[in-house]
Amino acid sequence: MAKSPEVKVAVFGRAGVGKSALVVRLLTNRFIWEYDPTLESTYRHQANIDDEMVSMEILDTAGQEDLLQKEGHMRWGDGFVLVYDITDRSSFEDVAPLRSLLEEVRKPRHVPLVLVGNKADLEHARQVATEEGERLAADMACAFYECSACAGTAGTAGTAAGTVAEAFHELCREVRRR
Ligand code: GDP
Ligand code: MG
Repeated sequence: MAKSPEVKVAVFGRAGVGKSALVVRLLTNRFIWEYDPTLESTYRHQANIDDEMVSMEILDTAGQEDLLQKEGHMRWGDGFVLVYDITDRSSFEDVAPLRSLLEEVRKPRHVPLVLVGNKADLEHARQVATEEGERLAADMACAFYECSACAGTAGTAGTAAGTVAEAFHELCREVRRR
């Protein structure tokens, strides 16, 4: 049997936006409220994407790395999930600089990415409008998802958590298109 394609995915975003919660949700279909924020881990995850088994290696960054570590992660990945928290404007403002650094590190290659606005369940505390996320994604020419690591059931399309899987799958497609 042919070996399934491997995609290295690095998850970036300010500490506290929910990177670990999203990754845990994707892997286990569960939400874990407290997760060591200083922890950096890699995980393996297999998914059926368009009738093909794809092996993802997922790097959940801590979001507090120095520049050298960040650049190392950026060289390691094939594709990148840039996460912000819709209730934290400063986390949204962190995205564009991250993208610039990615472009610089990977140049002249195209950088496959997806933009994720997490904590969509906290609508009452929203600081970043959906349209702003859409606009930023359009600027970066990438897909955009608003989702929640803690609402609904992962893998169920149309739910906030189903969107978590969809975001990772779309990133894999984008990587594989190149
Ligand atoms: P990380 O530093 O980016 O890895 O963030 P964590 O995954 O550790 O999450 C930071 C905090 O946000 C934790 O208290 C989580 O319980 C919470 N959190 C993460 N995702 C969500 C979400 O989708 N909705 C809500 N309400 N809280 C979340
Ligand atoms: Mg974390």
